[in-house]
Amino acid sequence: YSEASNTQLPSTSSSYNDGRWGDTTPLPTKKKLQSWYRLENGDWELVNVLSTSADETVISVPEGKVSRVKGESLLPANPDILDGVDDLMQLSYLNEPSVLYNLHYRYDRDMIYTKAGPVLVAINPFKKVALYGNNFIQAYKDKEIDGPHVYAITDTAMREMIRDEVNQSIIISGESGAGKTETAKIAMQYLAALGGGSGIENEILKTNPILEAFGNAKTLRNNNSSRFGKLIEIQFSETGKISGARIQTFLLEKSRVVQCAKGERSYHIFYQLCAGAPRSLKEKLNLQNADDYEYLKQTDISIDGVDDAEDFRIVMEALDVVHISKENQDNVFAMIAAVLWLGNLSFEMIDSENHVKPVEGESLSTVSQLIGCSVEELSLALSTRKMRVGNDTIVQKLTLSQAIETRDALAKSIYACLFDWLVEQINKSLSVGKRRSGRTISILDIYGFESFDRNSFEQFCINYANERLQQHFNRHLFKLEQEEYIQDGIDWAKVDFEDNQDCLNLFEKKPLGLLSLLDEESTFPNGTDLTFAEKLKRHLRSNSCFKGDRGKAFTVSHYAGEVTYDTTSFLEKNRDLLHLDSIQLLSSCSCELPKMFAASMLNQSEKLVMGPLHKAGGAESQKLSVAMKFKGQLFQLMQRLESTTPHFIRCIKPNNCQSPGKYEQGLVLQQLRCCGVLEVVRISRSGFPTRMTHQKFARRYGFLLLDEVAAQDSLSVSVAILHQFNILPEMYQVGYTKLFFRTGQIGVLEDTRNRT
Ligand code: ATP
Ligand code: MG
Repeated sequence: YSEASNTQLPSTSSSYNDGRWGDTTPLPTKKKLQSWYRLENGDWELVNVLSTSADETVISVPEGKVSRVKGESLLPANPDILDGVDDLMQLSYLNEPSVLYNLHYRYDRDMIYTKAGPVLVAINPFKKVALYGNNFIQAYKDKEIDGPHVYAITDTAMREMIRDEVNQSIIISGESGAGKTETAKIAMQYLAALGGGSGIENEILKTNPILEAFGNAKTLRNNNSSRFGKLIEIQFSETGKISGARIQTFLLEKSRVVQCAKGERSYHIFYQLCAGAPRSLKEKLNLQNADDYEYLKQTDISIDGVDDAEDFRIVMEALDVVHISKENQDNVFAMIAAVLWLGNLSFEMIDSENHVKPVEGESLSTVSQLIGCSVEELSLALSTRKMRVGNDTIVQKLTLSQAIETRDALAKSIYACLFDWLVEQINKSLSVGKRRSGRTISILDIYGFESFDRNSFEQFCINYANERLQQHFNRHLFKLEQEEYIQDGIDWAKVDFEDNQDCLNLFEKKPLGLLSLLDEESTFPNGTDLTFAEKLKRHLRSNSCFKGDRGKAFTVSHYAGEVTYDTTSFLEKNRDLLHLDSIQLLSSCSCELPKMFAASMLNQSEKLVMGPLHKAGGAESQKLSVAMKFKGQLFQLMQRLESTTPHFIRCIKPNNCQSPGKYEQGLVLQQLRCCGVLEVVRISRSGFPTRMTHQKFARRYGFLLLDEVAAQDSLSVSVAILHQFNILPEMYQVGYTKLFFRTGQIGVLEDTRNRT
């Protein structure tokens, strides 16, 4: 049984000071050998307490120095016997330094997983650790080991899916580089091993290298950073065998295709193709080296320890496995090459008014060949824009900056459409002829909360998503918990938690919320980033989570801290317009993919028919704004998650240099705060996390009864079982409909039941 067996009584002390950490009461005056002392840099150090009096404490630090300090700067340390416990719930003192120490203690011994009540904390080892593979999988499956592990939590999900006939979800969160994607893969491996057999599990695993090639890139934080969010739903038959899967992706960062920061790279696939394409393909696509392409050569070309050519081979193989035909694979690579060659297109002046047209040459002819149009059509689409004024259509020539913007928008759109198309093809392959009657386990790997020196539209969307996910987490672990106790008449002291509903309202309220105002301003032809920022300040001033800053900036108080957003490019990124001329170009191409891309873009365009050609101004497709589309996706995601039993994994990054063995207290602490780990422990420890209806309990364990029970109602049977097994009164409560147990109490019953 996977619950930690913790028979220790929960601490009843509720006199924590800051409401966030338990047990922050100053050191009691009784003799205590060791304590945590707060250093000037904020780190904590273990010290010996020599004596205490009313106004000062004498301590000796590890180097032997003795000093007198104020009692407030000390917090109690746990006895040595609790060093490295595998569930933070077992700590007698649950203060900040004790938790940090416990995680560090384990991390030093390659025990990167720790439970925090129902949540699994995973600290990135940044090196190979001997915790995975078939032997471990088997051991977890057979319950020979039950320490905290992704395997264990995945095993629980699998069992609960079968036992309760409820869909499950594994929600993985954490900062960039914390290990979400690796963790998701480890969970998938476990599921594949347990539910495999039909061969579809191999297909599912092979989607990873494909999506990573097309959707991951080197960033300053992570050499393999996912630039999209992902939900993979793995479908099972009634017998618990994998029968199919479906992938949904969120908000691919497409600006990266045309531009990325110093020290970062564009998507892996670009470099992989250049380095690894076989000669025939290279010739067909007129491929050069990566550093011959403007889009790639702005920054790093290679990553230490990564062999792009070898990775390309792996991707090709994976594409075969998920049944992307050779022909389609070539089409995909043609699109990648087309994007690269687009970036090499330069422009020349054609008149004295700054108007330009693409320079004729290798780039122009290669792009037109790759997408299947004439050089003239391509040239026209990149140098002019059709507009309707009154009843006439006029053709406007583009200036250099307009032409470059049009070219880059085309490149970004082709890439984003290609990504979506690929996901669609994979989904087709993973669902071929499968019945969808069984149950599912969904794994969510989505970007964590981001707060940088400069935060833009991307961070705005990502952090909004995180507010939603945080609410789901809160709801599940706190609100539902409390409501259930109250409903069932259980005596249980309320535990406060930070509700983020106010912040969500700030985003979502209509018509005066961040998203609505952004959309409104995006539809105004004269709207600018500055008018947007001013509008926010005018309407949202009174909201406690909002602060208007000078100029184009504003600040939001997120659950994880304040973030200041710079509205530069907000409107443009939210509109995400591709000029109709470009869409028309794609739809007139002879190649299949560009035609499909054009069709899907037109599909997304809500009011297209009304839009462009009837209005003076722009021939642009009026599609759903990026923020609105994202909000829609997010609502759908939350709805799906609501109907599942969630399992949470919080990934933690122990240092910012991606190096093994380095554990920075401050950094870890900040992440623990952001994801509410400590509150979870506090709430779980003080509550009754295991619960079962009287009926179910009686049905499940009734047969273990030695004596006949006079009354046959479930409650009587249940109580008789509790007595027979000597479950102590403080370890459970009887509610109107359910029995509530402290952590670990059901273990004995389950063991006996399984042995019988
Ligand atoms: P992002 O949000 O940028 O996508 P992420 O949370 O998905 O970040 P990962 O890509 O999963 O982070 O992990 C970053 C790197 O950390 C991996 O490439 C790998 O080198 C290392 N890593 C993560 N988890 C593990 C693990 N369990 N064992 C060994 N190395 C790991
Ligand atoms: Mg990732």
